[in-house]
Amino acid sequence: MDSFEQLKQDCSLCSRCVLGATRKNLVFGIGNEHSDLVFVGEGPGEKEDLQGIPFVGPAGQLLDVMLKLIGLRREDVYICNIVKCRPPMNRDPSPEEREACSQWLQRQLALIDPKIIVCLGRISATSLISPSFKITKEHGQWYEIDGRKVIATYHPSALLRDVSKRPEAFADFREIRSALRALGYPCDPLSFYSSGTMEAENDPVL
Ligand code: SF4
Repeated sequence: MDSFEQLKQDCSLCSRCVLGATRKNLVFGIGNEHSDLVFVGEGPGEKEDLQGIPFVGPAGQLLDVMLKLIGLRREDVYICNIVKCRPPMNRDPSPEEREACSQWLQRQLALIDPKIIVCLGRISATSLISPSFKITKEHGQWYEIDGRKVIATYHPSALLRDVSKRPEAFADFREIRSALRALGYPCDPLSFYSSGTMEAENDPVL
């Protein structure tokens, strides 16, 4: 069995695909390595590549807000990507690159052993749920894969570009909250909504 540190160390030496040649930093993942909830995005962008941390910048801030709305902090969950190295010019990772990198993600998931996986965006959903997955039609639906509950929602970057999708995304997060509550997590909104009366749907960020 891998240890997390050993796995990360091995991954940092990876050159299985062309993305390894142009990365500034490996973006392995961050968060609680024992969490029941793992978010899987697409791949690192420029800021992530520079810092070696997934979901920094505006998309990461929006993800943090959405986590808060269901009573979670970033450190409560684990966050990673389908590919661990930045695709140049933020292009989609190719099928070959996704396939090459999948062994790292599968080994990460084997160590974390989450009960719930959330695919953030089309690339993640087509990689982990079905190659024919349609994010606009099939987000918010649960799938059972390898004994885990898997759901997809929009990538936070898509929600920054198109605010009209935010209510649908929040409905997906309510689904996630329900699943976590079924596991015994309280999932109450954090002090961000200090009055306890503010409706998350009215949040100016969402
Ligand atoms: S993207 Fe994945 S498979 Fe490709 S070099 Fe980076 S770690 Fe290796």
